[in-house]
Amino acid sequence: MRAEIITIGDELLIGQVLDTNSTHISSMLDEIGVKTVRRQSIGDNCDEIKTALNLAKKNSSIIIITGGLGPTADDKTRDCLCEYFHDELVLNKDVLADIEHMLGLRSMTMTPRNADQAMVPSKSIAIRNTKGTAPGMYFSDETHVIVSLPGVPYEMEAMMKKFVLPELAKSYPVKSHLHRVVTTIGVSESGLADTLKDWENSLPDDVSLAYLPGAGMVKLRLSCYRADSQTEALMNKLVESLDPLIGKSVFTVNGETMEQVIARMLLSTHQNVAVAESCTGGSIAQLLTSVPGSSQWFRGGVVAYAENIKVAVLGVDENIIKTHGVVSEEVAISMASCAMNKFKSDWAISATGVAGPGGDSQKNPVGTVWAGIAGPGISYARKFNFFHNRARNISLATLFVVNELRKSMLKIK
Ligand code: ATP
Ligand code: MG
Repeated sequence: MRAEIITIGDELLIGQVLDTNSTHISSMLDEIGVKTVRRQSIGDNCDEIKTALNLAKKNSSIIIITGGLGPTADDKTRDCLCEYFHDELVLNKDVLADIEHMLGLRSMTMTPRNADQAMVPSKSIAIRNTKGTAPGMYFSDETHVIVSLPGVPYEMEAMMKKFVLPELAKSYPVKSHLHRVVTTIGVSESGLADTLKDWENSLPDDVSLAYLPGAGMVKLRLSCYRADSQTEALMNKLVESLDPLIGKSVFTVNGETMEQVIARMLLSTHQNVAVAESCTGGSIAQLLTSVPGSSQWFRGGVVAYAENIKVAVLGVDENIIKTHGVVSEEVAISMASCAMNKFKSDWAISATGVAGPGGDSQKNPVGTVWAGIAGPGISYARKFNFFHNRARNISLATLFVVNELRKSMLKIK
């Protein structure tokens, strides 16, 4: 089953709004086994909309459109679809009641402009909107389903989940499929591809592999457009066979985030962690506490940015800083062990480095970060060089310092 997505809006083409709808719709369709084969982004222009529809119809039986359903003159989608299907607009009383209700909640009264949104092409099913005023439209014939949804992401999402996906599942015998995602950290996409060359070549014909690189991580996604117990066993075996090849770089095979992995590990060992942060400015603590229930294993942290705060608040020996410089192995280790003492935690992690763009007095290159780890019988620091801009250096440092904790807990070097 093939689908195409058309996102409409001048704002998408001038780079003012990021087209997240396409991504989100693709992944929702993927969940029910529908493959997105093309996505088009176009302006609020009726000729463009018709051209895009004609192109999409040649290839795919399902077409999902978002955007341009608002009440203002720049929103052209509904009238254009009406023209495209040689249809006419008729009043939909349910939609009118929905709009009245929605305006009532906002203490607003109905204007002719609002009321016009209850006019829907007669050949379409109106998709009720519980989060906004513009209804969606569902056109279907023997060969195609064409769906038009509002551009506002949460309105679109609600209508997809409540109406479109169940409706598609009814009219098409959806072929199911299986995915497995293996997430790696600290290896490049090309490095992985080299290591996995033979493994990849030996994959069964109906199993495909995709490399999905992200900040500091690469996800490997195995897909098979079959879903039975045999396929399930095959996929498990394939994932297991990665272990001898890249096991050390894999931190999850079930889609967990790094912070979720840490949470799971600390919870299961009844241990906790504290942080001492310099160049990451609190983002390690932020990342860890983004996990619900983190109070069970996160003790707290200090953002010891200034040198004298590292000394006065954390208790780092002034002489260590004087002798080795503030961005150093010794200071990272000391920050971690001081945090472990102060917070009486089982583990503590620290970061001291140069986020950039300005350098430091020790002439460390921008992106140099020392990660310190203290734990049961463990005390060390590891140096990273990220060489990016400030924001990326901070987010990579955050991820890799936390990963160092994971490795220490697993005793991986
Ligand atoms: P409304 O009834 O709210 O006017 P609409 O169908 O007219 O809905 P648009 O005017 O095209 O939708 O977009 C409304 C808002 O939704 C935009 O300001 C934008 O922030 C967001 N939006 C539109 N298209 C997308 C998209 N493809 N991805 C993410 N956000 C989008
Ligand atoms: Mg618009």
